[in-house]
Amino acid sequence: ETATAKPALSIHLCAPRGFCAGVDRAIQIVELALEKYGSPVYVRHEIVHNKFVVDGLKAKGAVFVEELEEIPAEHTDRPVVFSAHGVPKAVPQDAQTRKMFYLDATCPLVSKVHKEAVIHFRRDREILLIGHAGHPEVIGTMGQLPEGTVTLIETEEDARAYTPKTGRTLAYITQTTLSVDDTAGIVAVLQERFPEIVAPHKEDICYATTNRQEAVKHVAPRVEAMIVVGAPNSSNSQRLREVAERAGCRTAVLIQRASDIDWQDFEGIRSLGLTAGASAPETLVEEIIDAFADRFDVTVETVRTAEETISFNLPRELRDMLSQAQ
Ligand code: SF4
Repeated sequence: ETATAKPALSIHLCAPRGFCAGVDRAIQIVELALEKYGSPVYVRHEIVHNKFVVDGLKAKGAVFVEELEEIPAEHTDRPVVFSAHGVPKAVPQDAQTRKMFYLDATCPLVSKVHKEAVIHFRRDREILLIGHAGHPEVIGTMGQLPEGTVTLIETEEDARAYTPKTGRTLAYITQTTLSVDDTAGIVAVLQERFPEIVAPHKEDICYATTNRQEAVKHVAPRVEAMIVVGAPNSSNSQRLREVAERAGCRTAVLIQRASDIDWQDFEGIRSLGLTAGASAPETLVEEIIDAFADRFDVTVETVRTAEETISFNLPRELRDMLSQAQ
């Protein structure tokens, strides 16, 4: 019996962590579409940035594509779901031209930012988007308006270097999954340079991003290492890792699942923080706790810094499925 020889490890489990209401809804949309319409159901882009989730849906009959053109002509009558990150206006337009049936899983909090962009445009404002180049949400938000209308600001340096293109009032919007602190820095630069700049009524960074970062900030100073469960292309997960690192965690890593753990990183530690990005399922968190329990005498304590009760309605076409299930 070697159990008594295991070193003690205290795991501080951040809460809230993992799935947000937008991810939950997006996955449900694909699952219910499969139930209602059978397979294949096409999904444009990873429905949420998590391989485990995507593979699970593939096994149930979802087919993932990057662009609508990839859907074979004989399948254009099949449903196609747009991912939680949102899509440029051209995508639903294209789907309509091709007479496709689409279900939009864009998170309502992303759609809210899209609407702000359109309102600024109608009010003839010059629009800045704070976000990360190439992220699908940024592509989708910029794509709500004609090309060249929205200027992307990625850093404080960008904000300092920005020269307004017109004499019109400036307005800014942001990606929903940014670092709360970095964004505050960028906004401060913009507001100092352009005191008249119009800000969102309520922050565009979503509740889930804010709450997960807050929890990490609270736990990070109390632990020697932090694990963030999430995918490398998940923006909110990347930000959680950075928050932990800045809060002083010697080791702060982003991993997809237990098999990715580099055990050398955790040799001799006595405390570990654990959280998960908004697109990472709880099973993967449990898998990681189990892996640590094989090597350490683990105690788990949940550290909760916020309660979350938000949930979003399903698209009209799928609501009958839910009443059937109940
Ligand atoms: Fe919506 Fe926020 Fe979740 Fe993105 S992270 S899907 S914006 S709730």
